[in-house]
Amino acid sequence: MSNLLFWYHTLLTVIFVLAPIVFFALLFITAPYGRYAQNKKFFSVPSRAGWIIMELPAVFVILSGFLFTAPAAAYVLLLMWEFHYLQRTFVFPMQLRNPLKPMPVWIIAMGNIFNIINGFVNGVSLTVIHHYEISWLVDTRFLVGAFLFFSGFAINHHADWVLRNLRKPGESGYKIPQGKLYQWVSCPNYLGEIVQWLGWAIATWSLAGGAFFVWTAANLAPRALRHHRWYGEMFADYPKTRRALIPWVL
Ligand code: NDP
Repeated sequence: MSNLLFWYHTLLTVIFVLAPIVFFALLFITAPYGRYAQNKKFFSVPSRAGWIIMELPAVFVILSGFLFTAPAAAYVLLLMWEFHYLQRTFVFPMQLRNPLKPMPVWIIAMGNIFNIINGFVNGVSLTVIHHYEISWLVDTRFLVGAFLFFSGFAINHHADWVLRNLRKPGESGYKIPQGKLYQWVSCPNYLGEIVQWLGWAIATWSLAGGAFFVWTAANLAPRALRHHRWYGEMFADYPKTRRALIPWVL
């Protein structure tokens, strides 16, 4: 048990320390996947396989914590986690309009490492660090967090759906997304993802959840700024009032 706690505290610290470094690095370096994919520069695999391989550890590693006995409400939190990760790992990649787009292996490897660390830390947090008795399910923190979690999921899911439907089957180019939150921001899918993990942090009321939220924001805020700049450069008629990530703010 002391070994487990040592690794829990060490890896939690690693996430909190690395998050601001990643944030500043990503303001200057753009991860070369999606619209920034560089065909021949890196050893790559098709994006559909890449997404599945990258996210797979997140589905399973959290279960390691459940080798220990856990109170009932921990299983409800586990279901919320799996609700997201089963969609992201097995459904989202099957819906990609351009599944053969190259995804660099080093990005997949980095995603794997993060998903293993994050799955472990959250698994231990749900089962060993915290004791989520059934009464937790009516606690205001759980209720507010769960509301944000599912609202964020819905925003992310809808925004990804809009993007997917910009392309007809066989098309691979880019268009200006319109409607709902796209009226205000370029990347509502990233906004939804950040809100979702903020909800997770509140629903679990845990450092592990807080670390995941900080990490997600550190990754997605710079990428949203990059996407926003890219839209402005690509489309002369790109709406001027639209912001990158947070309506009227950023
Ligand atoms: P993007 O918004 O860059 O792309 C999402 C999909 O929509 C891609 O298939 C992309 O195609 C397509 N697309 C995007 N913009 C357009 C457009 N203007 N016209 C036509 N098609 C478009 O998202 P990501 O690929 O970065 O992320 C995908 C999901 O993963 C998101 O839900 C995101 O929140 C999540 N994610 C979560 C992270 C985390 O830290 N938790 C980190 C990264 C992503 P193409 O691939 O050809 O560009």
